[in-house]
Amino acid sequence: MAIEIIKEKCTGCGLCFKACPYDAFEFEPYDGNKLGRVCKVNAKCSFCNQCLTACKFGAIKEVQTGETADLSDYKHIWVFAEQRKGKLMNVALELIGEGHRLANEISADTQVCAVLVGNKIDHLAAECFAYGADKVIMIQDPLLEQYTTDGYTKVITDAIHEMKPEIVLYGATHIGRDLAPRIAARCNTGLTADCTRLDVKVSSYIEFAKKKTTLDISTLDPEDTSTGIKQTRPAFGGNLMATIICPNTRPQMSTVRPGVMQKREKVEGATGEIVTYKPTIAKSDIHIDVVDVVKSAKELVSLTDADIICSGGRGLGDASGFKLIQEFADKVGGVVGSSRAAVDAGWIDQSHQVGQTGTTVKPKIYFACGISGAIQHLAGMQTSDYIVAINKDADCPMMEVADFCIVGDLYKVIPQIIAEWDKAED
Ligand code: FAD
Repeated sequence: MAIEIIKEKCTGCGLCFKACPYDAFEFEPYDGNKLGRVCKVNAKCSFCNQCLTACKFGAIKEVQTGETADLSDYKHIWVFAEQRKGKLMNVALELIGEGHRLANEISADTQVCAVLVGNKIDHLAAECFAYGADKVIMIQDPLLEQYTTDGYTKVITDAIHEMKPEIVLYGATHIGRDLAPRIAARCNTGLTADCTRLDVKVSSYIEFAKKKTTLDISTLDPEDTSTGIKQTRPAFGGNLMATIICPNTRPQMSTVRPGVMQKREKVEGATGEIVTYKPTIAKSDIHIDVVDVVKSAKELVSLTDADIICSGGRGLGDASGFKLIQEFADKVGGVVGSSRAAVDAGWIDQSHQVGQTGTTVKPKIYFACGISGAIQHLAGMQTSDYIVAINKDADCPMMEVADFCIVGDLYKVIPQIIAEWDKAED
């Protein structure tokens, strides 16, 4: 897709400049009109088409180019290393681990680059290296101190245009979900949201793959010479998994939910290259002022980082059942989770919901109390280290994924566990 200016119709009035939110217009000299200039579209165009309606002279049109980018220009894997108040989000470290795995399968010289954006965040580079980044791209400016959609989008998009990464991964956090689609639009490339699995699409990597044990070569189509990644995510309410490719444009972009990918073992003292990217950003590029950041009560439910989660479902019978779950969680040092059925019934706030449309979790122990184990719930917790199912129904799907199955009434079982815990503490 491209935006084309019909020079014969353009009066050089600049209305398109005003309509364009991306600063994607410039003038170029032209003899054929009174002002002696016509408008020209630059690389910042994100094909939003606002200019088409703004132009009173029908001088702008959208054209399908059918062109494919020269994919060989794009190299390396970038991970948006999201930080808040100078602290890296866990998902950034998980994605560095995943990036490392993919890089190993793509080629020996593919690097994993952590992209750090903010102000006074130099100290975070060491942590990125310790978790497996080969390189850190450091983008700092006082205007980037607070996350703003405009500011982060601009500087990362500019860096992508300049350095051309092959793959960019973001955590599917509130910030990642806000940022990634905007950057994808400005780079005129695809984005697969909420991936649960990434694989290298490999026919041209076959020779390399033969040397690797992690890749199943029999799944490769030798006729298919395209490269890229296969991005898999649940679709149609989790009833099937869709695998999505981005064959014609680069970079390939995915958001990945926290807790899905594996962090690498931390290597203290690991080092790598730090590339300082000086962003071109002005106050006028940012259209909002962040007055204050207020942490909502909902966000205080930190399911993502919890080691132990005690979740309750419809089997609790009513809202008061969550008092028992809270008591249980307090006793074992856990956090309260829930199924969607309990949320939909109005028994607990949505911020506690685990699953496909809730939070994806990976605690050390997940207690599923009165939760049947619907596929959408399992999608958010089945990679927990240990799953304990407490359910009256010995044949419910949760029992199939559980490491420990307790068949019984949760109102009898949980008080017994609490009592045993008390005894052990004495
Ligand atoms: P139920 O399936 O009704 O199970 C209740 C269980 O409690 C049963 O197994 C029963 O045997 C047991 N039980 C009853 N009484 C007792 C007792 N006294 N002691 C012990 N056990 C007892 N669901 C999610 O959880 N998270 C999501 O993110 C999510 N996203 C969805 C997205 C879409 C698009 C759709 C269509 C659905 C989604 N769902 C999600 C809903 C999901 O399909 C199920 O409906 C839901 O998970 C069921 O919740 P539950 O297990 O608590 O209830």
